[in-house]
Amino acid sequence: MTSRSLHRRHFLRSAGLAALGLAGCSPPAGTLVTKRRFAPVNIEEDRIIRTVVGLRPFRPEGFVVREERVGSKRVIHHYGHGGCGVTLSWGTAQLALEEVLREETSSCAVIGCGAVGLATARLLQKAGKSVTIYTKDLPPQTTSNIAGAKWQPFTLADRDRRTPEFEVRFERAARFAHRYFQDLVGSHYGVSWVESYGCSDKPSEGYLQDPLADLYPDREDLAPGTHPFPYDHVQRYTTLFIETPVYLEAVLRDFMIMGGKLVVRGFTMMGEVESLPEPVVVNCTGLGARELVGDTELTPIKGQLSVLLPQPEVDYLTTAGMLYMFPRRDGILLGGTTERGEWDLGVNEDAKAKMIAGHRAFFAGEKPV
Ligand SMILES: Cc1cc2nc3c(=O)[nH]c(=O)nc-3n(C[C@H](O)[C@H](O)[C@H](O)COP(=O)(O)OP(=O)(O)OC[C@H]3O[C@@H](n4cnc5c(N)ncnc54)[C@H](O)[C@@H]3O)c2cc1C
Repeated sequence: MTSRSLHRRHFLRSAGLAALGLAGCSPPAGTLVTKRRFAPVNIEEDRIIRTVVGLRPFRPEGFVVREERVGSKRVIHHYGHGGCGVTLSWGTAQLALEEVLREETSSCAVIGCGAVGLATARLLQKAGKSVTIYTKDLPPQTTSNIAGAKWQPFTLADRDRRTPEFEVRFERAARFAHRYFQDLVGSHYGVSWVESYGCSDKPSEGYLQDPLADLYPDREDLAPGTHPFPYDHVQRYTTLFIETPVYLEAVLRDFMIMGGKLVVRGFTMMGEVESLPEPVVVNCTGLGARELVGDTELTPIKGQLSVLLPQPEVDYLTTAGMLYMFPRRDGILLGGTTERGEWDLGVNEDAKAKMIAGHRAFFAGEKPV
């Protein structure tokens, strides 16, 4: 028997040993004693059903929420969420709403229909505004549909470019969004609480940043021998998880039910907003803002996900270095590629092969290289 198949049996046996532990019996020396069952992820090449590519709208200084006058219109720019646009969407939408509310208005336009545009449009509706979304593409054709999307502010900004003012806004946005998503938990919105296992080589690489650590409840550092992962330091915590295909459709439906209007329209320059009937426009165009606003700070970080056939028995998330595994009802997402400044939307086959090999090693009990 190979060491890989032995390790796979290790994953499978973890359930039995958990029960053994509960029953007070001692397991044989050197065996795993886990508190739960870890169903093994089946990473065979012929189980890959698709590989998708997206460009994260990254700004080294972090997201933008700021007002600008364009002719007779007030424009609130709201974009640049990097690798955490779904995560922060409701929170930065609240910041954008506060900008809008500085002056009286009854109707607003939102440009863009990804996670950020939809959250903005819904909060404006809840504040009593009549809202029209103008957008080039709709779900499922947005970058937001590609997102993983574990609730975690990841690839937010460059450490050395984050100002104290940004930190304050970021923390406010993160806390608001985290609370808002809690009210959406359930199959209707495709939002759930899932156990996550963050694996690292050193305790100092601990996965969770302190100021927001309370947003990852039920945390525990797992001792070696109590988990099947090939790392010395494994932290378990519970996190919100958003199944974007279900979630974006549901929020768009809410927007329409609440009287929202939708216009499929692309803009090539910001001045075109002069033709809109609404006096206030919120620009939620993600990476599209680079062209539209001329924001050259905005840069793509290409990422790709390979999706395996669904395995309903896999009910936990893993992260190890850049690699991550998120189980969804429509498939198991394997991720872990980032290419800064890359605009090509084609699959990077080398990156894909490395990422799949890394996951195969991980679930076989070997540290990925
Ligand atoms: C592989 C990968 C994994 C990711 N994982 C996560 C994760 O785990 N968690 C997380 O929170 N985030 C994750 N992200 C990041 C997330 O996808 C983005 O931060 C998020 O999608 C940004 O949302 P958005 O609404 O700003 O942009 P988009 O979803 O791109 O929406 C922009 C909208 O604006 C419209 N638009 C653009 N330009 C114009 C124009 N000129 N005229 C009219 N309309 C226009 C588009 O058609 C679209 O409707 C991931 C991204 C990738 C690629």
